[in-house]
Amino acid sequence: MAGIYIHVPFCKRKCGYCNFYSTTRLELKANYLQALQKELQQRRDYLNGEQVQTIYFGGGTPSLMEPAEIQSVIDTIKQLHSVADNPEITIEANPDDLTLAYIGQLAQTSVNRLSIGIQSFDDEMLKLMNRRHTAQQAIDAVRNCQQAGYSNISVDLIYGLPQMTADDWRRQLDNVARLNVQHLSAYHLSYEEGTAFGLKLKQHKLEEVSEDDSLEQFEILTDWAKTAGFEHYEISNFAKSSFRSRHNSSYWNRTIYLGVGPAAHSYNRTTRSWNTANTAEYIKGIESGSCVSEEEQLSPTDIFNDYVITALRTSSGIDMEYLEHEQPRQMVEYLRRQAESFVCDGRLEYATNHLKLTHSGIFISDEIMEALIVSDN
Ligand code: SF4
Repeated sequence: MAGIYIHVPFCKRKCGYCNFYSTTRLELKANYLQALQKELQQRRDYLNGEQVQTIYFGGGTPSLMEPAEIQSVIDTIKQLHSVADNPEITIEANPDDLTLAYIGQLAQTSVNRLSIGIQSFDDEMLKLMNRRHTAQQAIDAVRNCQQAGYSNISVDLIYGLPQMTADDWRRQLDNVARLNVQHLSAYHLSYEEGTAFGLKLKQHKLEEVSEDDSLEQFEILTDWAKTAGFEHYEISNFAKSSFRSRHNSSYWNRTIYLGVGPAAHSYNRTTRSWNTANTAEYIKGIESGSCVSEEEQLSPTDIFNDYVITALRTSSGIDMEYLEHEQPRQMVEYLRRQAESFVCDGRLEYATNHLKLTHSGIFISDEIMEALIVSDN
């Protein structure tokens, strides 16, 4: 079982909070597409014949690609790999790209899942974030997709925004409920180094919400999800029954994946590699046949820690039976010892031989992960 990730690095403009790699040099798109096809050919053996279950176009803004361009990448993948009969094929999209005309064409391709970056239904907040769409465009985009026959739609929202109140956040979630989508990814705003928001925070032009407000908004989110029929299956992800993201779930389940395009990461259980986060350099490197990526061999400690961090983010938690059978004994014992105090405090719990975050543990998940992972020293 394997996945393929395609990084589409183009954005029309940069959102204030975003630290994903992207470029506004849209004139590079044609050469990028050629390089992408070439990289897929060059790395055709990476998945070692494992069947591809999921294909994910992330970015950047994949909806800046024409549907025919997206389909030609999918066709190449199908020629080069064994692809499951019903693969999940997702594209991330910006609401203002999802016009009826665009969606009509997209519905003719093999794309069967959409992840729409709505972020907020509040026009003032959208402006503050430098998003290029309005709340109404976001609502229309979802409706257009549904009208075209899409029935596996995810939306992204951000909470913990400057001056966001509990009522503001409730209103955002009510909009999601009204749209009748199948999946929600909800992220707390973080002020990353190198972003416009990070800079404004340092200059005191923006103010972080208080910890109490953050906690309250998280509580509102999880209560809302229960009422609205969404399963909270990963720290930031919520799905209606049978609509979990298969692609993202594979990252959390140690499935191998090939990542192509600038800044894309790949993982094959023994190594991890990442392509250069520079589109012009990527195109030049692929065209001349030189290496565009760096690779690191995963040590037993890396493999153990990666598993602990990813599994703990999920509602299933850490499979202790897997750890005991497949991982070094001293690391598993260390984890059990480190977990004890969190179990006593009610932040972690054992259930059917899985170690899981409790509801209150989710608030301090970073601290818990830090405590459970093993250091090489
Ligand atoms: S949030 Fe999405 S659209 Fe905005 S800059 Fe980042 S990748 Fe581009």
